[in-house]
Amino acid sequence: MASITIVGGGTAGWMTAVLLNQAYNKFGNTVSIQLVESPDVDIVGVGEATVPAIKDFLQAVGIDEAEFIKSTNATIKNGILFKNWCAPTEEGEVHQYMHPFDQERVEKRLDVATSWLLSSRNKSYDDSVSIAKALSDKNLTPKVQQSKSFQSIVPYSYHLDARLFGQFLRKHAIARGVTRVEAHVNNVVAKEGKIVSLSTDKGEITSDLFIDCTGFRALLLSKLEEQENWHSYSDVLLCDKAVTIQTENDTSYAPNPYTISHALSAGWSWKIDLQNRSGNGYVYSSRHISPEQAELEFRKHLGLDEQTKFNHIDMHVGRRRQQWIGNCVAVGLSSGFIEPLESTGLHLIYLAARQFVLHNNFSKTQQSTRDNYNKTMNDTYDELKDFIVLHYVLSDRTDSEFWRDIPKTLDGCELLKSRLSVWKHKVCEYFDVSNSTSHMFSDVSYRYILYGMNYFPELDIPFVEGEFDDVFAYIENRQQQACHHTLSHKEYLNATVHG
Ligand code: FAD
Repeated sequence: MASITIVGGGTAGWMTAVLLNQAYNKFGNTVSIQLVESPDVDIVGVGEATVPAIKDFLQAVGIDEAEFIKSTNATIKNGILFKNWCAPTEEGEVHQYMHPFDQERVEKRLDVATSWLLSSRNKSYDDSVSIAKALSDKNLTPKVQQSKSFQSIVPYSYHLDARLFGQFLRKHAIARGVTRVEAHVNNVVAKEGKIVSLSTDKGEITSDLFIDCTGFRALLLSKLEEQENWHSYSDVLLCDKAVTIQTENDTSYAPNPYTISHALSAGWSWKIDLQNRSGNGYVYSSRHISPEQAELEFRKHLGLDEQTKFNHIDMHVGRRRQQWIGNCVAVGLSSGFIEPLESTGLHLIYLAARQFVLHNNFSKTQQSTRDNYNKTMNDTYDELKDFIVLHYVLSDRTDSEFWRDIPKTLDGCELLKSRLSVWKHKVCEYFDVSNSTSHMFSDVSYRYILYGMNYFPELDIPFVEGEFDDVFAYIENRQQQACHHTLSHKEYLNATVHG
């Protein structure tokens, strides 16, 4: 029987274990899968906001939605509300916009986005075209009373407790035959470009394939790297540290069904509401402020007292050039990391594990197949990096050293550079991004960032005054209908957790 050993019991390790087990062992044991986790090295313990593809993962591995929500203190996420990413208005109003997961389509002479651009723009783009935004404003979910598991009127994802999610997946995996080994890997023995064995405090481990889920340290893959394998993004993404804290919410608090990303003096902070608490973090550039200054600024931002203890995390921003070398594949933080502005960490894990299954032929795997896997993952990372850079380059903030230092030349982001020059003169639409290999974010997402951050094209399309009124009246009606029929966040969570 072929064997796979996963090292690391963080979210990456357990998500990969569950997915590989489902892929190979659903119809009887064909592959022996074991996961080794160290009792001495903690998991990173963050990673609590997700994108809608998390639902594909949960469904692919046969997890029930209600069970998942109960077990992980999860809440619903309709999108991300960005605050303060552009300078305030002359009247001092804080700039804000949302990146929801849906967009209405109306069959008319022109598409909805072009219609909005040509219209009088009485309302912001997100308010004009999204049902999820309208729901979020009223603390509603996209679920109606009769919604079945994973069903909704518009796409959504979740906020979840990272530790509880790990424990939940561990239980699920073990119940389906994955072996858990509690051991600390002390040494990795490699020969001729392959891992031969692992030395642990509980003995030696051999395996056909190894999945490196050891986090930023990439304990296994780094043993096989013969040349410089790190592709840094630090020239275009300045943030390299985070300070985090969890805050308790009392029972009267209604959790937001969206993530908040609030730009601060040297980066941005997240607020992720779970059923019982909020996860908060400040992602910042250590070239611009010290950990102490970041802590102070963040404490003030959250209104916390001086006794509060924060957690500090170093972030290695970039990716490995080869994520699969010989018989070892890096998944999770060991493969790379991009700041969590669009909550993509868990999605990258799912994608990597899925791509691994599609590429893997065990001992028959060819180098060309590994090359293809590496290219797919590299393209995905690079495009995601461009999407994150977009949020920074469109900002007009100049109120601190950090915001003044944002590289605006877009060197190293050639694809984004050419897209932005095209989008200066035309609407951003499906065909502009559909040829990318990764499909990480579609034109729908790009438009929310572009138009939310005031990057409008100059259009030369004839139209008549009032032509678009019925388009936006129609969408407004759909928004009102949706708000009327959907469950509030509290109602949905109460029914799911206690119902
Ligand atoms: P880790 O959690 O670090 O796990 C490493 C594992 O390896 C541990 O179990 C450890 O015990 C084991 N290990 C290490 N050394 C050894 C050894 N010698 N022997 C045996 N075992 C060993 N992602 C999102 O999707 N959404 C977010 O909102 C988000 N926010 C983030 C915020 C920050 C600040 C950071 C840094 C990341 C964020 N991420 C987010 C990414 C997300 O946290 C990670 O992708 C996810 O947690 C996976 O981590 P991991 O399992 O790769 O690593």
